[in-house]
Amino acid sequence: MKIGIPRGLLYDQFYPFFTRFFTELGAELVISPQTNKSILDSGAQYCVDEACLPVKVFHGHVCYLKDKCDLLFIPRIMQLYKDEYICPKFCGLPEMVINSIPGLPEVISHPFSATSMARLRQWAMASASRITGNRRRVSAALEAAVKEQSHFKTGYDDQGYPIKVALAGHPYNIYDTFINMNIKKKLNQLGVGVITEECVDEAEMEPEVQTLFKKPFWTFARKTYGFIAALAANRQVQGIVYISSFACGIDSVIIELVRDRTGEFPMLVLKIDEHTGEAGVDTRIEAFADMLERSVKLESNHSPHGQCIYRCKSPV
Ligand code: SF4
Repeated sequence: MKIGIPRGLLYDQFYPFFTRFFTELGAELVISPQTNKSILDSGAQYCVDEACLPVKVFHGHVCYLKDKCDLLFIPRIMQLYKDEYICPKFCGLPEMVINSIPGLPEVISHPFSATSMARLRQWAMASASRITGNRRRVSAALEAAVKEQSHFKTGYDDQGYPIKVALAGHPYNIYDTFINMNIKKKLNQLGVGVITEECVDEAEMEPEVQTLFKKPFWTFARKTYGFIAALAANRQVQGIVYISSFACGIDSVIIELVRDRTGEFPMLVLKIDEHTGEAGVDTRIEAFADMLERSVKLESNHSPHGQCIYRCKSPV
């Protein structure tokens, strides 16, 4: 049994869990390659126009796999934390893909909720039913997958750069170097180090989230807001680079909340879609790095601490 796994959306966050689970069941895995132009083009061709770029890219990964596997795995990721959801596009992703791309093999798309072991077991039993009826084997595969994921660490925390920025956005925009045109490398070449939200303790973010008038309903909104607001307020970075998907409603909310909280703290928002040109991105990153460099020099002339001159608003 060959199972196709698209390397799109939250694959980079959860591949240890999913690949271990299906491998333990005895399936052979076929994983699509890193995103490339042909994947992007086929995704843009089949996906509805109004979808965000990461969802289009996911469609492209499915196109790559559709004739290479017996079963296709499209994770319907609903919840990672209690009382929060991921994004409506994730909940309806299997239907979107099935109705847009003809000739797909059978799809595994049971709702995935990581809020308890009981919910994970439900997902595991349902997802494994086409591969094995041996419940003991499924339970063992689930235990192994959970263990594998618990050892997995991701995130960037560059050291030794004169300037450091918070690199914010959804994980697929940060870790898919084709989507983001290798922004981390570009920033590093300009002398700018980056830190991502996985490297900041949730306990550090939580007080900032508590200042909002209500707890965000979306996990991305809670975590990204908490990450940026905490780092800006504590002056752990000199600026923010936010990679945002064009047509992403959650990004629009986060950016407004962050702007309201951080005031004039420097933030570069790069909105990306399939038409974004690399030259334009390069120019904006260079200008931003230049501005940060000047602000740090200016401040170090006036302050013994060398902190950024831009001020984040005080907690509400
Ligand atoms: S959170 Fe935004 S970028 Fe991600 S899938 Fe949803 S709409 Fe697209």
